[in-house]
Amino acid sequence: MTLTTSLVWFRRDLRAFDHAALHHALRQSQAVHCVFVYDSAILDSLPRRDRRVDFIHASLAELASELHQLGGDLIVLHDDAATAIPRLAAELKADAVFANHDYEPQAIARDAMVADALTAHARLWFSFKDQVIFEKDEVLTLSGKPYTVYTPYKNAWLKKMRADPSCLAPYDIEPHAARLAPPRGKPAALPALEELGFEPSNLAELAIPTGMSGGARLFEDFLPRVEKYDVARDFPALKGPSYLSLHLRFGTVSLRYLVRTIIDLMERGGGGGGAPVWLAELIWRDFYAMILVQNPQVEHAAFKPAYDAIAWETGALADEAFAAWCAGRTGYPLVDAAMAQLNQTGYMHNRLRMVTACFLIKDLGIDWRRGEAYFALHLNDFDLASNNGGWQWASSSGCDAQPYFRIFNPITQSEKFDASGRFIRRYLPQLKALADKEIHAPWLVPRMLLDQKNIVLGRDYPAPIVQHDEARKETLARYEVVKVVK
Ligand code: FAD
Repeated sequence: MTLTTSLVWFRRDLRAFDHAALHHALRQSQAVHCVFVYDSAILDSLPRRDRRVDFIHASLAELASELHQLGGDLIVLHDDAATAIPRLAAELKADAVFANHDYEPQAIARDAMVADALTAHARLWFSFKDQVIFEKDEVLTLSGKPYTVYTPYKNAWLKKMRADPSCLAPYDIEPHAARLAPPRGKPAALPALEELGFEPSNLAELAIPTGMSGGARLFEDFLPRVEKYDVARDFPALKGPSYLSLHLRFGTVSLRYLVRTIIDLMERGGGGGGAPVWLAELIWRDFYAMILVQNPQVEHAAFKPAYDAIAWETGALADEAFAAWCAGRTGYPLVDAAMAQLNQTGYMHNRLRMVTACFLIKDLGIDWRRGEAYFALHLNDFDLASNNGGWQWASSSGCDAQPYFRIFNPITQSEKFDASGRFIRRYLPQLKALADKEIHAPWLVPRMLLDQKNIVLGRDYPAPIVQHDEARKETLARYEVVKVVK
């Protein structure tokens, strides 16, 4: 089929290389326009300073410049995407709109509206897998059902990938770039943040790399470290992980390229113990995306329905405890340092996401959905599927979650994963003077010693808002109900 004019709609895929929708549009059309929409349906719900909006803004400038170099253009709108896309398609007389799949329930509903509106005017809608390696029902059990346990899913994922490595093949753009439609007149300036109703966040100050070049730089920086990933990844004070989650979220890196590179490295005998572990993390991402598509109810409900019978703490005291958790004022240094990392940078180390989530749910007895919503608002890399998967793992209500009686002890987690207190000191400088052994539980330090170090609990740092041992007992009692409800 050859189409005269097509429109490619960029969403979570802000790059001009290895891009499924762009590749297919270029191969099937004589002229291809490109568009990104700042969707007012989403933007209106965000705080006026949002690092993710900054990230998109900076990344779009690079995408537009890349498309200009290839001879094309990027139209950028600020509008309700569900109506703006069919309207633009009509204005451009496009025969079809091409996009990559988005697996979040609201996005699926929005795309269905767009597809219907296009079809009503005899235009076509095409969408493609791009942000995962295997999607929806591509990896199934022998009885044809979706997996609900990660390890057998991972094994089946690896087997399928090895059986047909073409799933990692790049979708090339350059050979077909002559079909990109040139700018209609002078290329329009991209809307400034202020025009979108936003103020700059501290993204630039934090030197968080943006765009395709930023994603590539982070991966280059990570590759020599990947062989130690299995060991280093659990210690928040170390530069252990890749920090690529934000780029995977907005598609400024190609997942296929990352997986290909790691597999090639392993096939050449490189990557040590770290490369397979890192690949396994990328497979977790596919796993949770698949879980969300197969079980869209998890957005609001426990994956295991029995866990919705749990009675969470509510009322003024619970609200106070929640506010203390959000602000990093629980009196547990590792938890508070982790929340400070999130609040100040929009990133939180994976070990700490587990520790803080577990603390909120199992030390404070607060509904995991409240924590999930706070992360959703503050994480730069917020992704509904992975965030929900992580929270349901911590609350034990998810597929393949930690058992409910496994309750992290925030002090021993701190002693184990930040033994020297380096991470804690980075975010809680008021505790700097404490010795390595003391920093994990300042309330256990004798008053005289605290005085010598000029630290007053309640003034410089909070006393613990809950006693872990007590909270543990209460949580075990709270979770009793899951044994009764089936
Ligand atoms: P690396 O360790 O370098 O891992 C590489 C990539 O693998 C990550 O970028 C990510 O895409 C994927 N990955 C790693 N761990 C996981 C995991 N447990 N589940 C799914 N994918 C994973 N990740 C998000 O991308 N967005 C979220 O909103 C999110 N919320 C989370 C909430 C909780 C409560 C928990 C426990 C985990 C959450 N994660 C989320 C997973 C994980 O913490 C982050 O992906 C990781 O910390 C990002 O840092 P990185 O890119 O340096 O990871």
